[in-house]
Amino acid sequence: MTVTDTRPARWSTADLDRAVQEVDAVTALHAADCDRDARFPEEALAALRSTGLLGLMVPAEYGGAGGGLADMAAVSSRLSRTCMSVGMIFTMHCQQVAAVVRDGGPLRDRLLPRVARGELYLASVTTEASTGGHLLSSGASLTGDASTLHVDRFAPVVTGGSFADGFLLTMQAPDATSPTQVSLVYADRDQLRVTVRGGWNPMGMRATHSAPLHLAGDVPAGQVVGVHGGFRDIAVRTFAPMAHIGWAACWLGTADGALSRTVTLLRAERRSRGLDSELLLRRLSRVRQRLDTVHALINHSVSVLEKTIDSTSASVQLLINAVKLTASEMCPAAVDELVDLLGMRHGYLRDSDLALERALRDLRSAPLNYSNDRLHAADGALVLMDREVRHV
Ligand SMILES: Cc1cc2nc3c(=O)[nH]c(=O)nc-3n(C[C@H](O)[C@H](O)[C@H](O)COP(=O)(O)OP(=O)(O)OC[C@H]3O[C@@H](n4cnc5c(N)ncnc54)[C@H](O)[C@@H]3O)c2cc1C
Repeated sequence: MTVTDTRPARWSTADLDRAVQEVDAVTALHAADCDRDARFPEEALAALRSTGLLGLMVPAEYGGAGGGLADMAAVSSRLSRTCMSVGMIFTMHCQQVAAVVRDGGPLRDRLLPRVARGELYLASVTTEASTGGHLLSSGASLTGDASTLHVDRFAPVVTGGSFADGFLLTMQAPDATSPTQVSLVYADRDQLRVTVRGGWNPMGMRATHSAPLHLAGDVPAGQVVGVHGGFRDIAVRTFAPMAHIGWAACWLGTADGALSRTVTLLRAERRSRGLDSELLLRRLSRVRQRLDTVHALINHSVSVLEKTIDSTSASVQLLINAVKLTASEMCPAAVDELVDLLGMRHGYLRDSDLALERALRDLRSAPLNYSNDRLHAADGALVLMDREVRHV
């Protein structure tokens, strides 16, 4: 008798590779003009939908690829080699999906099959004008009754907000007595009036089209992810690990791509350039050292998170924050060094095929995208709390 395995299949590495290659090929065609025009990469989003990659983090029983943190980091990094905006769009969507998977309750049945079918691209709405990047507080209150929640919120930076099919928003819980009682609410685009309130003309990350929005409308009361006022727990267990590792993977992929294009050029111009300059070799070594450090830190953190029971401990949070802090310093520094190494023509000019200046402009956002200053302040407090630090 044959026993049939009725469990839905997760994607194989080959499935994943094929999908990434397809998205990457489309991305490469449009990366330069999306950057020039600060245009959202609609073609790449269409490819993320059609290949099923948008459903990477959706468990197989909901029709998704059943991927984990390591898969998300690997795909984000690969996509960012060609265009960091596409990598970031993908990784931020994965972060939202992971929150629904873990804390979505009844929303899972409604949302996850749609994500797996490529119908639901999710945007993140956490930043506020009044609280800035302070993730764990909100100045905008949810109102409503037992059946309905009223959303009315200005969002100064929403990656892909004009193209998203749904939003996860942080707002003060109804009846909150403090701005830190924050809820995470899901809203479908067609449940809201979404008004674009400004343009997007940044130094880098231009293709993320992270323009300001005003979002207003009524959603059923059951569209809360987790419990009212419980966003802190989602932030610590899901958002912070997914964001810090996903972002770091994007920054690393961008710098890896810049290094590999540089090495390819150096090898091709070996005869005319000569590759025995001690300065050139030292620069290459320093770049590679930085990127290998970030790579090792990401891999180590992924393996710690895969094994850990309590991701809320001070030591795990410090490790996850260290990934963000280290990657956001070392990846821009690595590309900056490549610019020095190659000089004007291939390092600085915008029309060089090596696109180092785009990589450098994009990477300049890394320390700002959740401010390193804020993270260092939080880390200082965590160091004092960390029970694993003892006097011996
Ligand atoms: C490309 C890109 C895409 C983004 N996409 C989204 C998105 O989709 N959704 C979303 O909600 N947000 C998004 N953001 C916003 C991001 O998550 C941060 O909230 C934002 O970058 C922080 O902006 P800020 O520097 O103005 O604010 P703040 O974090 O408020 O920092 C402002 C400055 O004040 C200082 N500062 C403030 N408070 C402290 C403190 N306690 N300790 C030390 N220093 C402090 C810092 O030095 C910092 O330089 C995006 C940002 C970027 C760059």
